[in-house]
Amino acid sequence: MNRMMKVLDKTFEVFITKEEIAKEVASLAKEINKDYEGEEVIFVAVLNGSFMFASDLMKEIDLVSEISFIKMSSYHGTESTGRVDELIGLNNDINGKNIIIVEDIIDSGLTMNKIISLMEMESPKSVKICSLLYKPEAFKGNHKPDYIGFSIPNAFVVGYGLDYDEKGRNLDAIYQIKE
Ligand code: 5GP
Repeated sequence: MNRMMKVLDKTFEVFITKEEIAKEVASLAKEINKDYEGEEVIFVAVLNGSFMFASDLMKEIDLVSEISFIKMSSYHGTESTGRVDELIGLNNDINGKNIIIVEDIIDSGLTMNKIISLMEMESPKSVKICSLLYKPEAFKGNHKPDYIGFSIPNAFVVGYGLDYDEKGRNLDAIYQIKE
């Protein structure tokens, strides 16, 4: 594995290795398996960034479970309503179900605010958040993640699903920008 990595015009340095990620993902899954023992769960992964994390996490889950992939999108509605947010891709009936939202990173937490408020309209039994990365210094949302892989400083990261201008998602470790 290269310590330094160039993605487009920026240089990144390895920050969390693939071994450290694997260990943490296994430990998150173990915690979820224990907390939801005997219950069914629908995992809802937020694309694009969470595809790799969701895939590795699910392999370690031994509950009766489903997985669905969503995307947040916003568009301009009529002038009176302004910007409208919608969730694309949630085909499962989540009414009365346990939901775990799977995210790659929670930064300001504003995306999660929108996701949760849209989901709550469908009256799930419970909603929890599992995020591989969390930036506490940047957070100003209403829903702190319930399961956190790594709390990290407020610096830009790529790899393991996370992109820089759509590049770098394929990297198997997480790299931090070098100023
Ligand atoms: P929020 O600020 O709403 O919590 O996060 C919005 C989105 O910004 C995340 O889902 C993620 O796509 C992106 N993001 C936030 N911080 C980073 C980062 O350090 N690296 C990358 N690649 N994306 C980030």
